Amino acid sequence: MTDSQIDETHAPDRRSWIASANDTHTEFPIQNLPFGVFRQARSDRAGRIGVAIGDRIVDLAGLASHLGNDIEDAATLLTAPSLAPLMGRAPRLWQALRRALVRLLEAGSRDQGTVEPHLVAMADAEMLLPARPGGFIDFFASIQHATNAGSLFRPTAPLLPNYKYVPIGYNGRASTIRVDGTGVRRPNGQRLRPGEESPTFGPSLRLDYEMELGIFLGGASTVGEPVAIADAWQHIFGVCLLNDWSARDIQAWEYQPLGPFLGKSFATTISPWIVTAEALKPFRVAASARPSGDPAPLPHLLDPADQAGGGIDIQVSAWLHAAGAAPARLGSASAAGLYWTPAQMVAHQTSNGCNLEAGDLYGTGTISGDGAQALGSLLEITRGGASPLALSNGDSRTFLRDGDELVLTARCERQGFAPIGFGACRGTILPALDI
Ligand code: MN
Repeated sequence: MTDSQIDETHAPDRRSWIASANDTHTEFPIQNLPFGVFRQARSDRAGRIGVAIGDRIVDLAGLASHLGNDIEDAATLLTAPSLAPLMGRAPRLWQALRRALVRLLEAGSRDQGTVEPHLVAMADAEMLLPARPGGFIDFFASIQHATNAGSLFRPTAPLLPNYKYVPIGYNGRASTIRVDGTGVRRPNGQRLRPGEESPTFGPSLRLDYEMELGIFLGGASTVGEPVAIADAWQHIFGVCLLNDWSARDIQAWEYQPLGPFLGKSFATTISPWIVTAEALKPFRVAASARPSGDPAPLPHLLDPADQAGGGIDIQVSAWLHAAGAAPARLGSASAAGLYWTPAQMVAHQTSNGCNLEAGDLYGTGTISGDGAQALGSLLEITRGGASPLALSNGDSRTFLRDGDELVLTARCERQGFAPIGFGACRGTILPALDI
Protein backbone atom coordinates (compact mmCIF):
# COMPACT_ATOMS: atom_id res chain seq x y z
CA MET A 1 0.00 0.00 0.00
CA THR A 2 1.44 3.31 -1.01
CA ASP A 3 0.72 6.63 0.64
CA SER A 4 -1.06 7.68 -2.57
CA GLN A 5 -3.99 5.53 -1.44
CA ILE A 6 -4.36 7.57 1.72
CA ASP A 7 -7.12 10.08 1.03
CA GLU A 8 -9.01 12.95 2.62
CA THR A 9 -10.83 10.54 4.96
CA HIS A 10 -7.50 9.97 6.76
CA ALA A 11 -6.69 13.69 7.29
CA PRO A 12 -5.53 13.91 10.91
CA ASP A 13 -6.90 17.39 11.57
CA ARG A 14 -10.50 16.55 10.70
CA ARG A 15 -12.94 16.91 13.61
CA SER A 16 -16.49 15.72 14.12
CA TRP A 17 -19.51 17.60 15.49
CA ILE A 18 -19.78 14.64 17.90
CA ALA A 19 -17.61 16.00 20.71
CA SER A 20 -16.48 12.64 22.13
CA ALA A 21 -14.97 11.76 18.73
CA ASN A 22 -12.45 14.58 19.19
CA ASP A 23 -11.24 13.38 22.59
CA THR A 24 -7.53 12.62 22.29
CA HIS A 25 -8.06 9.29 24.09
CA THR A 26 -10.91 8.00 21.93
CA GLU A 27 -10.36 4.82 19.96
CA PHE A 28 -13.01 5.92 17.50
CA PRO A 29 -12.18 9.31 15.96
CA ILE A 30 -13.76 10.28 12.63
CA GLN A 31 -10.72 8.77 10.88
CA ASN A 32 -11.66 5.26 12.15
CA LEU A 33 -15.42 4.60 11.60
CA PRO A 34 -15.48 0.83 12.29
CA PHE A 35 -18.59 -1.21 11.49
CA GLY A 36 -20.56 -3.41 13.86
CA VAL A 37 -24.01 -4.80 14.57
CA PHE A 38 -25.87 -3.70 17.69
CA ARG A 39 -29.22 -3.65 19.33
CA GLN A 40 -30.46 -1.19 21.86
CA ALA A 41 -30.63 -2.43 25.40
CA ARG A 42 -34.09 -3.33 26.67
CA SER A 43 -35.27 -3.77 23.12
CA ASP A 44 -35.90 -7.07 21.38
CA ARG A 45 -35.24 -5.62 17.96
CA ALA A 46 -32.97 -7.61 15.70
CA GLY A 47 -29.47 -6.33 15.14
CA ARG A 48 -28.82 -3.14 13.23
CA ILE A 49 -25.68 -2.06 11.42
CA GLY A 50 -23.87 0.78 13.12
CA VAL A 51 -20.64 2.74 12.92
CA ALA A 52 -18.70 3.70 16.05
CA ILE A 53 -17.68 7.32 16.54
CA GLY A 54 -16.51 8.60 19.92
CA ASP A 55 -18.91 7.15 22.49
CA ARG A 56 -21.80 7.01 20.01
CA ILE A 57 -23.07 4.57 17.40
CA VAL A 58 -24.50 5.89 14.15
CA ASP A 59 -27.50 3.70 13.30
CA LEU A 60 -26.94 3.12 9.58
CA ALA A 61 -30.22 1.29 9.16
CA GLY A 62 -31.96 4.51 10.21
CA LEU A 63 -29.81 6.57 7.87
CA ALA A 64 -30.03 4.22 4.88
CA SER A 65 -32.56 6.36 3.06
CA HIS A 66 -30.22 9.36 3.32
CA LEU A 67 -27.31 7.39 1.86
CA GLY A 68 -29.19 6.18 -1.20
CA ASN A 69 -27.67 8.83 -3.47
CA ASP A 70 -24.12 7.80 -2.56
CA ILE A 71 -24.47 4.06 -2.08
CA GLU A 72 -26.00 1.70 -4.57
CA ASP A 73 -28.50 -0.61 -2.83
CA ALA A 74 -28.02 1.25 0.46
CA ALA A 75 -31.50 0.32 1.64
CA THR A 76 -30.79 -3.39 1.24
CA LEU A 77 -27.18 -3.43 2.46
CA LEU A 78 -27.57 -1.17 5.49
CA THR A 79 -30.84 -2.50 6.89
CA ALA A 80 -29.60 -6.12 7.04
CA PRO A 81 -29.02 -7.58 10.54
CA SER A 82 -25.49 -8.59 9.46
CA LEU A 83 -22.56 -6.98 7.68
CA ALA A 84 -22.24 -9.94 5.29
CA PRO A 85 -24.25 -8.31 2.43
CA LEU A 86 -22.08 -5.17 2.66
CA MET A 87 -18.96 -7.34 2.77
CA GLY A 88 -20.18 -9.02 -0.40
CA ARG A 89 -19.78 -5.82 -2.38
CA ALA A 90 -16.63 -4.35 -3.96
CA PRO A 91 -14.16 -2.03 -2.21
CA ARG A 92 -15.41 0.84 -4.40
CA LEU A 93 -18.69 0.75 -2.51
CA TRP A 94 -16.95 0.47 0.90
CA GLN A 95 -14.90 3.54 -0.01
CA ALA A 96 -17.96 5.51 -1.15
CA LEU A 97 -19.72 4.68 2.11
CA ARG A 98 -16.74 5.83 4.15
CA ARG A 99 -16.57 9.14 2.26
CA ALA A 100 -20.31 9.67 2.71
CA LEU A 101 -20.05 9.02 6.45
CA VAL A 102 -17.18 11.47 6.81
CA ARG A 103 -19.28 14.15 5.09
CA LEU A 104 -22.21 13.48 7.44
CA LEU A 105 -20.13 13.41 10.61
CA GLU A 106 -17.43 16.06 10.12
CA ALA A 107 -17.54 19.33 11.97
CA GLY A 108 -19.57 21.87 10.05
CA SER A 109 -21.60 19.26 8.19
CA ARG A 110 -24.96 20.54 7.00
CA ASP A 111 -26.38 17.10 7.75
CA GLN A 112 -25.97 17.19 11.53
CA GLY A 113 -29.71 17.53 12.05
CA THR A 114 -30.35 14.56 9.78
CA VAL A 115 -27.91 12.31 11.63
CA GLU A 116 -28.66 13.30 15.23
CA PRO A 117 -31.90 11.29 15.54
CA HIS A 118 -29.92 8.18 14.52
CA LEU A 119 -27.24 8.36 17.22
CA VAL A 120 -27.24 5.77 19.99
CA ALA A 121 -25.07 5.94 23.10
CA MET A 122 -22.68 2.97 23.16
CA ALA A 123 -23.60 2.55 26.82
CA ASP A 124 -27.19 1.83 25.76
CA ALA A 125 -26.30 -0.70 23.08
CA GLU A 126 -25.60 -4.42 23.13
CA MET A 127 -23.12 -5.49 20.50
CA LEU A 128 -23.84 -8.59 18.45
CA LEU A 129 -21.75 -10.73 16.10
CA PRO A 130 -21.00 -8.45 13.10
CA ALA A 131 -21.49 -11.32 10.67
CA ARG A 132 -21.96 -15.04 11.09
CA PRO A 133 -18.89 -16.44 9.33
CA GLY A 134 -19.58 -19.33 6.99
CA GLY A 135 -15.97 -20.35 7.22
CA PHE A 136 -13.29 -19.80 9.82
CA ILE A 137 -9.64 -20.49 9.14
CA ASP A 138 -6.99 -20.00 11.78
CA PHE A 139 -3.49 -19.33 10.45
CA PHE A 140 -0.16 -19.59 12.27
CA ALA A 141 1.55 -16.51 10.85
CA SER A 142 3.90 -15.56 13.70
CA ILE A 143 7.17 -17.42 13.33
CA GLN A 144 8.04 -16.53 16.92
CA HIS A 145 4.83 -18.18 18.14
CA ALA A 146 5.33 -21.16 15.84
CA THR A 147 8.85 -21.62 17.19
CA ASN A 148 7.92 -21.09 20.85
CA ALA A 149 4.89 -23.39 20.72
CA GLY A 150 6.68 -25.96 18.58
CA SER A 151 9.55 -26.17 21.05
CA LEU A 152 7.08 -27.16 23.77
CA PHE A 153 5.11 -29.69 21.72
CA ARG A 154 8.14 -31.00 19.77
CA PRO A 155 11.42 -30.06 21.49
CA THR A 156 13.56 -31.71 18.85
CA ALA A 157 11.88 -30.09 15.83
CA PRO A 158 10.15 -26.85 16.85
CA LEU A 159 9.74 -25.34 13.39
CA LEU A 160 8.71 -27.85 10.76
CA PRO A 161 10.35 -27.55 7.32
CA ASN A 162 7.15 -26.41 5.56
CA TYR A 163 6.74 -23.30 7.72
CA LYS A 164 8.73 -20.88 5.56
CA TYR A 165 6.95 -22.02 2.39
CA VAL A 166 3.31 -22.48 3.45
CA PRO A 167 1.11 -20.04 5.39
CA ILE A 168 0.05 -22.84 7.74
CA GLY A 169 -3.60 -22.88 8.76
CA TYR A 170 -6.49 -25.17 9.58
CA ASN A 171 -10.23 -25.04 9.07
CA GLY A 172 -11.66 -23.98 12.43
CA ARG A 173 -15.20 -24.07 13.79
CA ALA A 174 -17.46 -21.16 12.80
CA SER A 175 -20.50 -22.02 14.93
CA THR A 176 -18.81 -21.21 18.25
CA ILE A 177 -17.55 -17.75 17.31
CA ARG A 178 -18.97 -15.30 19.86
CA VAL A 179 -18.77 -11.58 20.39
CA ASP A 180 -16.95 -9.68 23.14
CA GLY A 181 -18.31 -10.29 26.64
CA THR A 182 -19.69 -13.77 26.09
CA GLY A 183 -18.74 -16.19 28.88
CA VAL A 184 -16.41 -19.04 27.94
CA ARG A 185 -17.25 -22.42 29.42
CA ARG A 186 -14.17 -24.46 30.36
CA PRO A 187 -14.33 -27.48 28.06
CA ASN A 188 -14.33 -31.08 29.11
CA GLY A 189 -12.24 -33.41 27.04
CA GLN A 190 -9.71 -36.19 26.84
CA ARG A 191 -6.33 -35.31 28.22
CA LEU A 192 -3.27 -37.30 29.12
CA ARG A 193 -2.01 -36.11 32.48
CA PRO A 194 1.70 -36.13 33.36
CA GLY A 195 2.86 -39.59 34.40
CA GLU A 196 -0.30 -41.32 33.18
CA GLU A 197 -0.31 -43.76 30.31
CA SER A 198 -3.92 -43.44 29.26
CA PRO A 199 -6.22 -40.43 29.03
CA THR A 200 -9.09 -39.45 31.26
CA PHE A 201 -12.13 -37.32 30.40
CA GLY A 202 -12.66 -34.14 32.40
CA PRO A 203 -12.26 -30.38 32.59
CA SER A 204 -9.29 -28.95 30.72
CA LEU A 205 -6.51 -28.20 33.20
CA ARG A 206 -4.50 -26.11 30.75
CA LEU A 207 -6.96 -23.55 29.39
CA ASP A 208 -5.23 -20.77 27.46
CA TYR A 209 -5.94 -17.74 25.28
CA GLU A 210 -4.35 -16.79 21.95
CA MET A 211 -3.83 -13.09 21.10
CA GLU A 212 -4.82 -12.79 17.45
CA LEU A 213 -6.40 -10.52 14.89
CA GLY A 214 -9.44 -11.59 12.89
CA ILE A 215 -9.71 -10.67 9.21
CA PHE A 216 -13.21 -10.48 7.70
CA LEU A 217 -13.29 -11.28 4.00
CA GLY A 218 -15.48 -9.76 1.36
CA GLY A 219 -16.29 -9.94 -2.30
CA ALA A 220 -16.89 -13.65 -2.90
CA SER A 221 -14.57 -15.56 -5.23
CA THR A 222 -15.43 -18.44 -7.55
CA VAL A 223 -14.64 -22.10 -6.93
CA GLY A 224 -11.80 -23.10 -9.23
CA GLU A 225 -10.48 -19.56 -9.63
CA PRO A 226 -7.62 -18.63 -7.30
CA VAL A 227 -7.40 -15.03 -6.10
CA ALA A 228 -4.10 -13.57 -7.32
CA ILE A 229 -2.02 -12.09 -4.54
CA ALA A 230 -2.13 -8.68 -6.27
CA ASP A 231 -5.95 -8.74 -5.99
CA ALA A 232 -6.13 -10.06 -2.43
CA TRP A 233 -6.92 -6.73 -0.75
CA GLN A 234 -10.04 -6.48 -2.90
CA HIS A 235 -11.30 -9.26 -0.62
CA ILE A 236 -10.29 -7.89 2.77
CA PHE A 237 -13.12 -5.94 4.41
CA GLY A 238 -11.55 -5.29 7.76
CA VAL A 239 -9.88 -6.44 10.95
CA CYS A 240 -11.04 -7.15 14.50
CA LEU A 241 -9.53 -8.70 17.62
CA LEU A 242 -9.76 -12.47 18.00
CA ASN A 243 -9.11 -14.73 20.98
CA ASP A 244 -8.61 -18.34 19.92
CA TRP A 245 -9.29 -20.03 23.28
CA SER A 246 -7.20 -23.18 23.46
CA ALA A 247 -7.30 -26.19 25.78
CA ARG A 248 -3.63 -27.16 25.64
CA ASP A 249 -4.06 -30.57 27.30
CA ILE A 250 -6.85 -31.60 24.94
CA GLN A 251 -4.87 -30.16 22.01
CA ALA A 252 -1.64 -31.96 22.89
CA TRP A 253 -3.39 -35.35 23.08
CA GLU A 254 -5.52 -35.03 19.95
CA TYR A 255 -3.52 -32.98 17.44
CA GLN A 256 -1.52 -35.69 15.71
CA PRO A 257 -1.93 -36.56 12.88
CA LEU A 258 -4.76 -34.29 11.69
CA GLY A 259 -4.33 -31.07 13.68
CA PRO A 260 -6.41 -29.07 16.16
CA PHE A 261 -9.98 -30.20 16.79
CA LEU A 262 -11.80 -30.16 20.15
CA GLY A 263 -8.95 -28.30 21.86
CA LYS A 264 -9.98 -25.24 19.84
CA SER A 265 -13.58 -25.67 18.67
CA PHE A 266 -15.38 -24.92 21.96
CA ALA A 267 -15.10 -21.11 21.69
CA THR A 268 -13.56 -18.22 19.74
CA THR A 269 -14.24 -14.63 20.81
CA ILE A 270 -14.06 -11.59 18.52
CA SER A 271 -14.37 -7.87 19.18
CA PRO A 272 -17.59 -6.29 17.89
CA TRP A 273 -16.10 -3.50 15.79
CA ILE A 274 -14.50 -4.24 12.43
CA VAL A 275 -11.85 -1.66 11.60
CA THR A 276 -12.01 -1.38 7.83
CA ALA A 277 -9.16 -1.97 5.42
CA GLU A 278 -9.74 1.67 4.39
CA ALA A 279 -9.18 2.98 7.91
CA LEU A 280 -6.02 0.86 8.22
CA LYS A 281 -4.33 2.29 5.10
CA PRO A 282 -2.13 4.79 6.98
CA PHE A 283 -0.81 1.92 9.11
CA ARG A 284 0.24 -0.37 6.29
CA VAL A 285 3.95 -1.20 6.38
CA ALA A 286 6.38 -3.40 4.48
CA ALA A 287 5.99 -7.13 4.94
CA SER A 288 8.26 -8.34 7.73
CA ALA A 289 11.75 -8.83 6.31
CA ARG A 290 12.81 -12.47 6.13
CA PRO A 291 16.13 -13.26 7.78
CA SER A 292 18.92 -13.88 5.28
CA GLY A 293 19.03 -17.55 4.42
CA ASP A 294 15.25 -17.97 4.51
CA PRO A 295 13.69 -19.00 1.19
CA ALA A 296 11.78 -16.40 -0.83
CA PRO A 297 8.03 -17.04 -1.00
CA LEU A 298 7.04 -19.11 -4.05
CA PRO A 299 5.91 -16.93 -6.99
CA HIS A 300 2.17 -17.12 -6.28
CA LEU A 301 2.82 -15.77 -2.77
CA LEU A 302 5.27 -13.08 -3.86
CA ASP A 303 4.07 -9.68 -5.03
CA PRO A 304 6.21 -6.52 -5.01
CA ALA A 305 3.35 -4.33 -3.75
CA ASP A 306 2.62 -6.81 -0.97
CA GLN A 307 6.26 -6.93 0.04
CA ALA A 308 6.39 -3.12 0.03
CA GLY A 309 3.16 -2.46 1.93
CA GLY A 310 1.31 -5.66 2.77
CA GLY A 311 1.95 -5.65 6.51
CA ILE A 312 -0.18 -3.80 9.06
CA ASP A 313 1.28 -2.16 12.13
CA ILE A 314 -1.41 -3.00 14.67
CA GLN A 315 -0.10 -3.22 18.23
CA VAL A 316 -2.14 -5.87 20.05
CA SER A 317 -2.12 -6.36 23.83
CA ALA A 318 -3.54 -9.00 26.17
CA TRP A 319 -4.60 -8.31 29.76
CA LEU A 320 -5.55 -10.66 32.57
CA HIS A 321 -8.16 -9.42 35.02
CA ALA A 322 -8.03 -11.89 37.91
CA ALA A 323 -10.21 -11.43 40.98
CA GLY A 324 -8.35 -9.54 43.71
CA ALA A 325 -5.34 -8.65 41.54
CA ALA A 326 -4.50 -5.58 39.48
CA PRO A 327 -4.97 -6.04 35.73
CA ALA A 328 -1.81 -7.65 34.36
CA ARG A 329 -0.56 -6.97 30.86
CA LEU A 330 0.43 -10.40 29.65
CA GLY A 331 2.02 -9.38 26.37
CA SER A 332 1.99 -6.90 23.51
CA ALA A 333 3.18 -7.35 19.94
CA SER A 334 2.62 -5.85 16.50
CA ALA A 335 1.05 -7.64 13.57
CA ALA A 336 3.75 -5.94 11.47
CA GLY A 337 6.10 -8.72 12.60
CA LEU A 338 4.04 -11.59 11.19
CA TYR A 339 5.91 -13.88 8.79
CA TRP A 340 2.94 -13.97 6.39
CA THR A 341 0.78 -11.04 5.20
CA PRO A 342 -3.03 -11.05 4.92
CA ALA A 343 -2.68 -11.03 1.11
CA GLN A 344 -0.47 -14.12 1.24
CA MET A 345 -3.14 -15.84 3.35
CA VAL A 346 -5.83 -15.06 0.75
CA ALA A 347 -3.61 -16.15 -2.15
CA HIS A 348 -2.66 -19.36 -0.36
CA GLN A 349 -6.18 -20.26 0.79
CA THR A 350 -7.57 -19.89 -2.75
CA SER A 351 -4.53 -21.25 -4.61
CA ASN A 352 -6.03 -24.74 -4.91
CA GLY A 353 -9.33 -23.39 -6.28
CA CYS A 354 -11.11 -23.17 -2.92
CA ASN A 355 -13.31 -20.08 -2.91
CA LEU A 356 -13.87 -17.50 -0.22
CA GLU A 357 -17.24 -16.08 0.75
CA ALA A 358 -18.19 -12.66 2.09
CA GLY A 359 -18.23 -12.91 5.86
CA ASP A 360 -15.58 -15.63 6.08
CA LEU A 361 -13.15 -15.05 8.91
CA TYR A 362 -9.42 -15.66 9.18
CA GLY A 363 -7.47 -15.66 12.42
CA THR A 364 -3.86 -14.57 12.00
CA GLY A 365 -2.64 -17.08 14.55
CA THR A 366 -1.19 -16.06 17.88
CA ILE A 367 0.77 -12.84 17.52
CA SER A 368 4.06 -13.12 19.38
CA GLY A 369 7.09 -10.93 18.86
CA ASP A 370 10.66 -10.98 20.14
CA GLY A 371 11.24 -10.96 23.87
CA ALA A 372 9.40 -12.00 27.01
CA GLN A 373 7.00 -9.02 26.94
CA ALA A 374 5.77 -9.81 23.44
CA LEU A 375 4.24 -13.26 23.89
CA GLY A 376 0.64 -13.98 22.88
CA SER A 377 -0.33 -17.01 24.98
CA LEU A 378 0.17 -18.44 28.47
CA LEU A 379 1.69 -21.52 26.85
CA GLU A 380 4.61 -19.33 25.81
CA ILE A 381 4.68 -16.98 28.83
CA THR A 382 4.80 -19.83 31.38
CA ARG A 383 6.76 -22.21 29.11
CA GLY A 384 4.07 -24.79 29.13
CA GLY A 385 3.23 -24.17 32.78
CA ALA A 386 6.81 -24.57 34.05
CA SER A 387 7.27 -20.88 35.01
CA PRO A 388 4.16 -19.50 36.73
CA LEU A 389 3.23 -15.88 36.15
CA ALA A 390 3.12 -13.80 39.37
CA LEU A 391 0.09 -11.53 39.94
CA SER A 392 0.01 -8.34 42.03
CA ASN A 393 -1.80 -10.00 44.95
CA GLY A 394 0.78 -12.76 45.38
CA ASP A 395 -1.31 -15.21 43.41
CA SER A 396 0.04 -16.83 40.25
CA ARG A 397 -1.10 -18.47 37.03
CA THR A 398 0.14 -21.18 34.77
CA PHE A 399 -3.11 -21.39 32.80
CA LEU A 400 -6.51 -19.68 33.17
CA ARG A 401 -8.68 -20.22 36.23
CA ASP A 402 -12.46 -20.07 36.45
CA GLY A 403 -13.49 -16.43 36.91
CA ASP A 404 -10.44 -15.01 35.10
CA GLU A 405 -11.26 -12.40 32.49
CA LEU A 406 -8.98 -12.13 29.46
CA VAL A 407 -9.08 -8.84 27.53
CA LEU A 408 -7.51 -8.06 24.15
CA THR A 409 -7.03 -4.48 22.95
CA ALA A 410 -5.21 -2.95 19.97
CA ARG A 411 -4.09 0.39 18.66
CA CYS A 412 -2.57 1.85 15.50
CA GLU A 413 -0.30 4.87 15.72
CA ARG A 414 1.76 6.67 13.11
CA GLN A 415 3.31 10.11 13.15
CA GLY A 416 1.11 12.51 11.23
CA PHE A 417 -2.09 10.45 11.52
CA ALA A 418 -4.89 10.15 14.04
CA PRO A 419 -4.37 7.07 16.24
CA ILE A 420 -7.20 4.54 16.11
CA GLY A 421 -8.24 1.65 18.35
CA PHE A 422 -10.27 -1.53 18.14
CA GLY A 423 -12.37 -1.58 21.32
CA ALA A 424 -12.12 -4.71 23.43
CA CYS A 425 -12.39 -8.47 23.08
CA ARG A 426 -13.28 -9.85 26.53
CA GLY A 427 -14.18 -13.24 27.86
CA THR A 428 -14.56 -14.65 31.36
CA ILE A 429 -13.93 -18.31 32.14
CA LEU A 430 -16.97 -20.18 33.44
CA PRO A 431 -16.60 -23.47 35.33
CA ALA A 432 -16.80 -26.72 33.37
CA LEU A 433 -20.07 -28.61 33.26
CA ASP A 434 -20.21 -31.53 35.69
CA ILE A 435 -19.49 -34.84 34.06
MN1 MN B 1 -4.84 -19.80 17.04
